[in-house]
Amino acid sequence: MTSHAGRHFLQIPGPTNIPDQVLRAISAPTIDHRGPEFAALTHELLAGLQPVFGTSGPVVIFPGSGTGAWEAALVNTLSTGDRVLCAETGHFAALWQRMAVDLGLYVDVIPGDWRHGAAPEAIAERLAADTVRTIKAVCVVHNETSTGVTSRVAEIRRAIDATGHPALLLVDTVSSLGSIDYRHDEWGVDVTVAGSQKGLMLPPGLGFNAVSAKALAVSRTARLRRSYWDWQPVIEANRHGHFPYTPATNLLYGLAEALRMLRTEGLPEVFARHARHAEATRKAVQGWGLDVLCADEREYSSSLTAVLVPEGQDADKVREIILERFDMSLGAGLGRLAGRIFRIGHLGHFNDLALTGTLAGVQMGLQLAGVRIDPSGLTAALDILREPHG
Ligand code: PLP
Repeated sequence: MTSHAGRHFLQIPGPTNIPDQVLRAISAPTIDHRGPEFAALTHELLAGLQPVFGTSGPVVIFPGSGTGAWEAALVNTLSTGDRVLCAETGHFAALWQRMAVDLGLYVDVIPGDWRHGAAPEAIAERLAADTVRTIKAVCVVHNETSTGVTSRVAEIRRAIDATGHPALLLVDTVSSLGSIDYRHDEWGVDVTVAGSQKGLMLPPGLGFNAVSAKALAVSRTARLRRSYWDWQPVIEANRHGHFPYTPATNLLYGLAEALRMLRTEGLPEVFARHARHAEATRKAVQGWGLDVLCADEREYSSSLTAVLVPEGQDADKVREIILERFDMSLGAGLGRLAGRIFRIGHLGHFNDLALTGTLAGVQMGLQLAGVRIDPSGLTAALDILREPHG
């Protein structure tokens, strides 16, 4: 391994770069999680998370990862043999589907080309055809981290409502929460799944479920086996500022700091910053003469951009050169996209010059890998970044 001076550029679409303030907060001494100081922290966190999810309902925090939060969403709302409808928008949607099968659910899949989001019409069509109402939940990944495509959840909600079907709507926001506009209550989402390591600017290790009143009511009769992931004991203990197990105390310190940072910048400003960086990135990619994987401009992701390399080129080779020469990590193509794309993460704790460095590194890496590109791509991005914003 070559040794590099300066900071590593962690430009995978999560885990993301952790702000120094958050790292410092995490390094404070661990306190008694059954004491009054901890209870005050829990109450602060639960209140602070609600606006980020766009909810006035409960948010359940688990020590775990996004995958654990997926499982919690399913086991709290469904019973063995229930049917769920899953839109296969990419690798993560496919993993969630597989988990549902593993848990004993019947999964109806709406196949996708991994270049588009979940189609509201297709979901509505399947629900309308389900006249006996056997489908109990619809699973959608808001921002497909494997493709850089953001599904239109508000439109999906409207399409579901138009059918009058009572299925729950479960949405994965692991790579969109705190980066892309999201409204749990307003969009009528029943369970929102999230993780700590992306827009929330924390290390991996926390999973979240925001829960609607309908989902909470359903959880009382849902029969899938659950213990650790059961919402009820957590919600109950949270009333007194505690957890039914030892919580990840130091990550929670970091969460309090991250929430403060999001509040100080303002969520609309955070979303605008991400959208602007995504636009500058696309301008660079298009300027290089390469294709963005996302095929519908209404669904461009603000948190990452997946770039297709030309036929005959190996995207992993490009990433390898960039890591070795410029000490920057980019996201690999996952599943059927392995070797075909690389993914540029531009989410979390990030700014104009960090993006400039990222895109400069990508441009040089493409050139070193022998990919024929137009070097005016970087200038096209700078033209966006130079413009005042606000
Ligand atoms: N969902 C999405 C959209 C993701 O991007 C990821 C991970 O990157 C997951 C779920 C799984 O989360 P975790 O790796 O934290 O278990």
